[in-house]
Amino acid sequence: MLFRLIWLVVFLVLAAASANWLMGQPGRMQLEWLDWRIEIRTSLAVVLLIMLCFLLIFADRLWRRLVTLPGWLGRNMRRRRGAAGHKALTLGLMAVSAGEASEAKRQAMWAQRLLDAPQLTDLLSAQAAHLAGDNRAAGRYFQSLTKAQDTAFLGHIGLARLAHEGNRLDEALAAARRALSLKPKSAMAAAQVLHLEAARGNWSDAAPALEVMIAAKNRTGPQNDTPRARSRQKVALAYLQARPFFDGDHNEQTLNRISEKEAVRQLRLALATDPGFWPAAILLADFYLRKGQRRRAAKILETGFSAVPHALFSDRLKQAWKVNEGAFVAKFIKLASSTGHAHAAEAETLAADAALAAGLEGEARRLLDGIAQAKRDVVTWQLIAHLAEIGENSTEAAMALRAAGGAIRPRGWQCQTCHVMSAEWHSHCLSCEGFATLEWQRPDHLTPLGLADDRAVENLTKGKAADD
Ligand SMILES: [Zn+2]
Repeated sequence: MLFRLIWLVVFLVLAAASANWLMGQPGRMQLEWLDWRIEIRTSLAVVLLIMLCFLLIFADRLWRRLVTLPGWLGRNMRRRRGAAGHKALTLGLMAVSAGEASEAKRQAMWAQRLLDAPQLTDLLSAQAAHLAGDNRAAGRYFQSLTKAQDTAFLGHIGLARLAHEGNRLDEALAAARRALSLKPKSAMAAAQVLHLEAARGNWSDAAPALEVMIAAKNRTGPQNDTPRARSRQKVALAYLQARPFFDGDHNEQTLNRISEKEAVRQLRLALATDPGFWPAAILLADFYLRKGQRRRAAKILETGFSAVPHALFSDRLKQAWKVNEGAFVAKFIKLASSTGHAHAAEAETLAADAALAAGLEGEARRLLDGIAQAKRDVVTWQLIAHLAEIGENSTEAAMALRAAGGAIRPRGWQCQTCHVMSAEWHSHCLSCEGFATLEWQRPDHLTPLGLADDRAVENLTKGKAADD
């Protein structure tokens, strides 16, 4: 600023000095053109010439500015449009996250009009349409994503999810398989393939997808994807692949039938993953018993019983050990006492049941008395009542039955997602249709629906009593 001022003063001084000098110069200039004749002082002519030069420079600048004005205006307008478009995009995405469909749609329309970024504005439009319940727009968007190489995977995943939501399972599976073929290590794509193949009962096609999920480090999937859930799925798939062989239905599914060796391998895989999955243990033990391989059967049954004591093991152990009644009870009691802390009370109740069946009432009473009150479940109390009835002690029997009413409920298959109980193991929960969600456990977080299904557990207990 100061520099400019000094510069201006110097310029003015110089201009005044040179003007003064020019005025002092003698001489005139004469110009004749047609009938005109102009006569001026030379000094004035020089000043006029200089002024003309300045005028020309000014005119040139003005012309240039006028020529570039539309371009400048256009650039300015584009910048403003861009800013408005990005604002609409941001507001639209905020509306989507807040679940405000109509506002999202309005902003999406603006963003589309103002911005030239189809991947962004289309995404907002699709999200807004999806929020408003229009899945076709979302479908069109995902379809457009599948066309570009770097967005194809996400496009197929999105299409699979949409089709799944719309219950078009074939379409969903095809899209999920395409996504998995693009990214063969993606746990997200594999999880979709797993659940869709499992929904169709294609166990052998679902198994490789589960392997991809287990190999992937990230735990992302459509369902509560925990290590325990994956372990349950692995066990279920192995058991389900083996089962057709043992079902003995030789006419059906002859093409899908697996070999005996493969069936046994799958059951062993299921039991190695979870020794407490008793349906697999019973299936394999029965197979060995039929073939007369009692030692193998015994090993499976002993391991299974130690992991999860179940009434179904008792009779089979008797066959596998092939000993007399007294020796069986002694051996069974020994096995029960070696069972882990978590299942000790159930194992001892079953041992007492076996002793009672063999007529060893004293032994049964000793075992039942040894179970702490807090650990006695419904079955334990019913057995105590039964013993009291045999001893004609009706007071004790009535007391035990009363206690049974408020006691811990016996184990059953309970869905880990919706908590509904089921009498039998199913590949899919009968209530929420989750795959491999059933766990053998004491009823937990019972819903009213679950309580209604309690008949199942009652039937189990009744059935057992009838067997006796
Ligand atoms: Zn469920």
